[in-house]
Parts: sequence; C-alpha cells; structure tokens
Amino acid sequence: MERQIEMLRILLDSTIEGVVVFNEEKRAIHANRNFSELFGYPEEEIIGKKAFDFIAPESHALVKEKIKLNDSGPYEARMLRKDGTKFWAILRGKDAVIDGEKVRISAIIDITAMKEKERKILYLANHDPLTGTYNRRFFQEVLAHKIETLRRDKLYGAILFIDLDDFKEINDTLGHDIGDAVLVKMTEMIGGCIRKSDIVARIGGDEFVVLLNLGTVSVNLAAIKAEMMTEKILDHIRKPIRIDHHEIRINASIGIAIIDRKSTTKDLMKFADIAMYQAKKTGKNRIVFFDKELQKNLEKRITTMTNLRKAVKNNDFRLHFQKQICLRNGAPQTIGVEALIRWIDRGKVIPPGDFIPLAEESGLSVEIGNYVLRSVGEILAKWKEDPVKKDYRISVNISPRQFEEESFIERVEEVVAFNDLDPQRLCLEITENLLVHDIEESCVKIGLLKEIGVSLSIDDFGTGFSSLMYLKKLPVDELKIDRSFIENIETNESDRIIVETIATLGKKFKINVIAEGVENEEQLHLLRDFGIVDFQGYLFSKPLDIEAIK
Ligand code: C2E
Ligand code: MG
Ligand code: MG
Repeated sequence: MERQIEMLRILLDSTIEGVVVFNEEKRAIHANRNFSELFGYPEEEIIGKKAFDFIAPESHALVKEKIKLNDSGPYEARMLRKDGTKFWAILRGKDAVIDGEKVRISAIIDITAMKEKERKILYLANHDPLTGTYNRRFFQEVLAHKIETLRRDKLYGAILFIDLDDFKEINDTLGHDIGDAVLVKMTEMIGGCIRKSDIVARIGGDEFVVLLNLGTVSVNLAAIKAEMMTEKILDHIRKPIRIDHHEIRINASIGIAIIDRKSTTKDLMKFADIAMYQAKKTGKNRIVFFDKELQKNLEKRITTMTNLRKAVKNNDFRLHFQKQICLRNGAPQTIGVEALIRWIDRGKVIPPGDFIPLAEESGLSVEIGNYVLRSVGEILAKWKEDPVKKDYRISVNISPRQFEEESFIERVEEVVAFNDLDPQRLCLEITENLLVHDIEESCVKIGLLKEIGVSLSIDDFGTGFSSLMYLKKLPVDELKIDRSFIENIETNESDRIIVETIATLGKKFKINVIAEGVENEEQLHLLRDFGIVDFQGYLFSKPLDIEAIK
C-alpha cells in the first residue's frame, strides 16, 4: 500500500497538469507539485482551501454552472493565484470514490502562452504591422458595425479616403526606412486630429481611411462638419515633419463620403475612393466630396476601359494619315504624313482624344503604341518601292508611358531592322513634358534613338514646360508648333510672338520647324512671313485612309 501511494505521488508529480483533490465539502485534501507551483501556494497551505479560492471571480458563475450540469470539461476558465494574479487554464473535473469517501479530482493546464499566441495572431490578422492601425479587412468589419449604430441613432458619419501625394518619391529618393517612418508619423498626425470614437486605418501603401462620427441628425450640418474636420486633418498632414536630418513636406488627396441612410459598407468605401480619385485627378492636395455625378463619370470610364481592353485584344484600331507639306520651293511638296489613330468601336469612329488619356492611365497605350509602330513600319516598307512615296516619312505619336517602357528602344530598333528601313523615314513625335520628367534618362534614350537613326520631333511645342536646356542638350530634328498657337494667330498678338520666337529658336539651333493645324491662307501667310516652310493642317489635307495618300 505504502509503495502504491508513493507510486501514485510520483505519477501525479510527473504529469504536466496541476492536480488537486477536493472532499465532499469542496475543500482541498491533496495537490500535486505542479498545482502548488502554478498557484504559488506551498503544499501545506493548499490543504483545507475551498475550490473557489483558486478560481478568479469572473469565472465563478461559469464553474458553478459546469458543476451543476455535471459537465466535467475540459473547458477554459480564469484561475486565481495566491498573489492575486490571474491566468487562463483548461479545467477537467472527475468524481471518484476513495476509501468510501466521495472526492472530486480537478486537473488544470496553464494556457497563458497559448492565449498570448492566439491574441497575437488575432492582432496580426486585424492590424497593420507598421502603423498598428486596423487593416482594411478589420476596418470594414468595424465600419459595418458602426454604420448600424449610426443608423439606429439616426446620426450621420463620414468616411474619408486619404492618399498621400507623391509618396513614391519619398520612398525612391530617401529610401524605404524613411518612407515607413513617414507613414507612422502620418498615422499619428491623422490620429491626433480625430476623437477617440473615430477610427483611422491604413489600408494600403500610402492609403488611409478614417471613420468620423459627426454626431448630427442633419445631413447638411454633417457635410459642413465633415469638411471642417477633413480640412483639419489635411492641415496636419501638410505640416513639415522631421525624420533623421530630413525635413519632409507631404500633401494628400482626400475623398469624403457621407454615411447616408441606405448605402452599403462596400458602396460607401467605393464612394470615398472615387472622390479621392477625383481629388487626385483635379490636381491633388485637396478634398473632394463624393456625389452622383462623379459616380456616373466613373462608371462611364470603367465601361470605356473594359471596351478599350477588348479593342486592344481584337486590334479594333485604324490609322489615318495627314499629309505634311513643304513650301520651301514655292510649289507644295509632300514630305510625309502623320499617323493618327482611331478606335473603331462597334462601327463608331472614336478620336484619340477620347481614349488615349485612358489608355495611358491604364498602360494600354504601350500595346497600342507598339501596334502603331509595327503598322507604320509595314507601310514604310511598302513605300520603299513606290516612285512617289519612297521619300515620304511617317510621323508617329509616342505616348509618355510608351517612351518610358524599358523595351521601347528595342521595339523601334526591331521595326527599323525587320522592314529594312531608312531610319530617317520614321519620325517619332514626343512631347516636352515627357522629356523633362527625367531629363537625364531622356537624354540617354534620345541618344540611343539617334544611334538607330530615326528622326525626332517635339510635338505640341510651346504648350509644355518649354525649356531651352533640352534644346541645347538633345539632338532633336524638329519642333512642331502646337495648333493652339496657330488657331488665333491672325488676332492674338501673344500667339504671334510665341510662333515667331519658336521659328527663330529653330533657326538658331538649326532645328526644323513645322506648324500644325493650319486651316486658312491668312494663317499660312503669317507663318511663311516668320520663315516657316513646313505645314500640316486642314488647309492642305484632313487625315485620310492610307489608300487616299498619293
Ligand atoms: P497631335 O499629334 O497634335 O495631332 C494633331 C491633331 O490635330 C490630330 O487630331 C489632327 O487630326 C488634328 N488636326 C490636324 N490639322 C488640323 C486642323 O487644321 N484643324 C484642326 N482643328 N485640327 C487639326 P487627332 O487625330 O484627333 O489626334 C489628337 C491627338 O491624339 C494627337 O495630337 C496625338 O497627341 C494623339 N494621338 C493620335 N494618334 C496617336 C497615337 O497613335 N498614339 C498616341 N500616343 N497618341 C496619338
Ligand atoms: Mg502628333
Ligand atoms: Mg500636336
């Protein structure tokens, strides 16, 4: 017997559980070493203690319920140590009879570490690790809840979509560590101007959302309050911040959607996003309210984008060609044509102005541009054998995205080599803004294009950030004066001065100058007076199908 009891004691002490035995009066009569260590009582102090002395008050009801239901577990409950601290545990109880006496044996496992891990996992699932704010998913969950409460109380709230302006530049120029520090700082700035009941969350790289409780039953007042609070936030964001040795200034574009009585959580997020997008589009660093008109425009854009994508896949484009005329020797002589793209959308001809900006935004302009380059290459190849057109050049409009594309130079090279072209016959039209975006990089690219031997023309000259710098640095062949200066050249003196200046500039730098959009004899006359000899415009020819080019 002695031996058996000893064996039992050893067995009990070697389990990972804390084990305690209670008598019928629910007083402890035995506990193993683990139990005493877990609860911080010396073994002798445990004897005589009541079962509920070991259970935290908040779990008393639960344990009583379990005992009443004769549920022996296992279940989770909060335990109470001698020093008053608490911990989570899994409990299991078992009734037994020892020496004719009814006893209850309870086994306990400390699950603090497990609970902590669970808490961490839950935290990571719901929060943004960098800023500690809620993440998108959790924000949406909380938002759905908040919206319900607001509606029940007939109060208004607002959702703000905040996107930092040009944040990429901070990352690119100062590095990601500084970028991260800016995001943390911005979270503090935004958090500093909202109330406790409002919520801020980072939902993407440099995108934040804020939920504002506006505490009013009037929609008009709600809008005014939302605008005031958003202005305060924007003011804070704009304040210069110091990180390491850098003083950083940042702006933001903010969209506001008022939480109305009927829109869904998803809709409201979308509305605030649309408004933010509008803020970006209309110049950044501003606040825009969502309204129905905005949504209609957006839906139209989305449809157009979908159709445009299909068009790119099916090649639903056609090129028109507009003649370029030289009057150097008096009689008009065709020097070439400009390729102008049209989208044939279910039989309707869509002008480039209506889809090129969208194509550019989505990156589709790269594929479209490659199609134009390829087609022009084929035409130039055919013209090599043509007695009249063998000397014509074709001008091709190159979009900024296309120019930036890493493989752009290769594409041009391919077109020239594949069709065995005299490269000068291919004239690339680029805009000034595209060049100054990254002047060094542009210089390199232009240098490579000149190595291939293609001609280069600056399109819409005079409308961009005209800089004499690049004229000096870049080996361009032609300046194409924008139509807007030609349009009113007869009546507008400053337009006349600009055109004359460009003509002089061309002469001094030995760059050819061509005027586009010439519609009448008076315009032509003035232009010729300035010494310009190359022209393009309705006066000579509208853009035509390839077959009509003679
Ligand atoms: P752009 O390169 O400045 O082309 C000249 C535009 O002026 C053409 O409009 C042409 O039809 C129009 N035009 C020519 N002469 C006259 C005239 O005497 N009077 C008037 N009122 N207009 C004249 P279009 O074809 O609608 O093209 C508009 C713009 O779309 C082009 O301006 C160019 O920037 C862009 N674009 C056209 N084709 C392409 C292309 O293949 N790729 C890219 N990226 N952009 C293109
Ligand atoms: Mg052009
Ligand atoms: Mg132009």
